Amino acid sequence: MGIIGAGPAGLVLANVLQQAGIGCVVVERHTRAYVEARARAGVIEHRTADFLARHGLADRLLAESARHGSCEFRYQGERFSVPYGALTGGRDHLVYPQQFLVRDLIESFLGAGGTLFFSHPVVGVAGLDSDRAVLRCEPAGSDAELGDGVGRGEPVDIDCEFVAGCDGFYGAARPSVPAGRLRAFGRQHEFGWLAILAEAPPSTEEIIYALHEEGFAGHMLRTPTVSRYYLQVPVGDAVENWPDARIWATLRRRLAVADWELKTGRITETSILDMRSFVVEPMQYGRLFLVGDAAHIITPAGGKGMNLAVADAGELARALTAYYAGAGSHLLDGYSAARLPEVWRTQEFSRWLLNLTHSPVGGSTDAPFMHRLQLSRLAQLRDSETFAATFADGYAGARPVLSPV
Ligand SMILES: Cc1cc2nc3c(=O)[nH]c(=O)nc-3n(C[C@H](O)[C@H](O)[C@H](O)COP(=O)(O)OP(=O)(O)OC[C@H]3O[C@@H](n4cnc5c(N)ncnc54)[C@H](O)[C@@H]3O)c2cc1C
Repeated sequence: MGIIGAGPAGLVLANVLQQAGIGCVVVERHTRAYVEARARAGVIEHRTADFLARHGLADRLLAESARHGSCEFRYQGERFSVPYGALTGGRDHLVYPQQFLVRDLIESFLGAGGTLFFSHPVVGVAGLDSDRAVLRCEPAGSDAELGDGVGRGEPVDIDCEFVAGCDGFYGAARPSVPAGRLRAFGRQHEFGWLAILAEAPPSTEEIIYALHEEGFAGHMLRTPTVSRYYLQVPVGDAVENWPDARIWATLRRRLAVADWELKTGRITETSILDMRSFVVEPMQYGRLFLVGDAAHIITPAGGKGMNLAVADAGELARALTAYYAGAGSHLLDGYSAARLPEVWRTQEFSRWLLNLTHSPVGGSTDAPFMHRLQLSRLAQLRDSETFAATFADGYAGARPVLSPV
């Protein structure tokens, strides 16, 4: 089994296959230091933690993460919480930075003797329609990119029976599929997000989603000393327009409620996120299976991408284990059909949350009308347990449906 990409999808798949005694090799374009420092997600759904724990991959996650079962909404100086954990019978989230999980998964895979080539970008996959697939890897171009004992300068071709494309949206796996065999569905959202990471303690005990006439603001949790924030910005905005003082002032304004103070700290990272949604169908072709962001991109609203990636990896591991145990290829053949309903359900939830919390794009004549609809929807979320329960079901994430591998 050839696995392209050492992100959450590739590493979960590699660990689970390794435990099942299925030979696999992981090929990653960046260094180990780079992937272990790349800060992205932080919200881990109950079923994801449960799946990792069942495979002995969650010791540190369970010991060091913070458990959260409610989130807060703010608008016009008002605030209210939705206890999604209680509303879903205990499907709480764990907050644990993605890069910590990646570090833990690398450690367990290598510790059990796994083969992982860092600093080896895959440039293409051949033979998807034939008896064997071939991963074409190039060594990294510069000394700075090399590391982890990988010899430099040696191109590598890896023969495999199957390939898992776990290499994100810009990877090499999806483009290796012949033209016309996959159908892409995409949407570029009508606003951008400024993503901010700061060495600041959280100013809240719950994730905050704030609807403000100026635009959305989010306060996400990471660790006791690091917080993440998001600000809705116009499409085409640039990081240079957002000096630190403007970021803090905007967050203070959009998140404002009585008797609350925003704790600040050193801003370590700002970036403009490409607010895009994307799904490819089917999520497989010949000997290739697309997993995680390689098959679908979802906006960070609701913290879903990494959880979907792990769920894909779990389903593919289940199908491969059945195949190598002699149970036939029906689960492998049905991988895409098994995953797409949840992928679309999650896309729908994420778009719903964006609609709820983002100001209509300024200048449109119906913006004040749309804003009133949002306020009405927030009031329903606050006042109707049925409405809140529906939100909670989507926010907490799918019920644990994966059968043990
Ligand atoms: C700011 C931000 C916040 C987010 N917050 C959340 C959240 O709270 N909860 C959540 O669930 N999701 C969140 N997400 C989404 C989440 O980070 C992604 O969905 C997740 O990383 C997907 O995992 P993956 O393994 O599919 O892809 P990736 O994590 O992108 O991993 C792909 C790997 O493949 C490697 N690669 C790429 N091309 C090649 C190649 N040609 N050859 C070899 N290797 C290659 C890459 O270097 C990378 O290591 C967030 C994303 C962002 C940007």
